[in-house]
Amino acid sequence: MKLILIGCPGAGKGTQAKKLSKYFNIAHISTGDLLREQIKLETELGKEVADIMHSGHLVPDEIVTKILSERIERDDCKNGYILDGYPRNLSQAEGLTDIIGEVDKVVLIDVDDKIIVERISGRRGCSKCGQMYHVKYNPPKAEGICDECGSKLVQRKDDAEETVKNRLRIYHETTSPIINYYDEKGILLKVSGIGGIDEITSYLIKSLEEA
Ligand SMILES: [Zn+2]
Repeated sequence: MKLILIGCPGAGKGTQAKKLSKYFNIAHISTGDLLREQIKLETELGKEVADIMHSGHLVPDEIVTKILSERIERDDCKNGYILDGYPRNLSQAEGLTDIIGEVDKVVLIDVDDKIIVERISGRRGCSKCGQMYHVKYNPPKAEGICDECGSKLVQRKDDAEETVKNRLRIYHETTSPIINYYDEKGILLKVSGIGGIDEITSYLIKSLEEA
């Protein structure tokens, strides 16, 4: 089974990818992790990637697809794999089809923007021990104070409401052409990402097994 997982930041994509990979016994391939692995192993490509990333540029598609095509040849991919974090735009999606052929399903985890903004902008982290909280879903006992160590809770810059809204705008701009691309091929599976993690996983498994 070859799957691609698409979802906006905060939709729970990585969590679901791990669970599906375990259930179907297929490899979970996160392109972000792959790039970090190459850098850590100090391969020729890894050195190139490190230079590009340190200069603040995006890693070119040719490099990502090269690393990806090597990755899917590994033993753990013989049952299939689930791609998480790639493709991010239409040209990457088209290039990917050229390399790996058609996938079985493209799963879109759909969550309303309003909910994503609430999920992400409500996050608070302890400035000292790193413990995470959410103002609504997992609040500390005393507002703004870490239960574990009593230090001040802070919001990451990336989690600020305006930043999240901006990321979502970019996500929709680049992702809607991919969604159409796979929908026209008849392989898009759209599921709601609202509800408990296990509930969503069960629904995903059921839908994939029926497909
Ligand atoms: Zn703390």
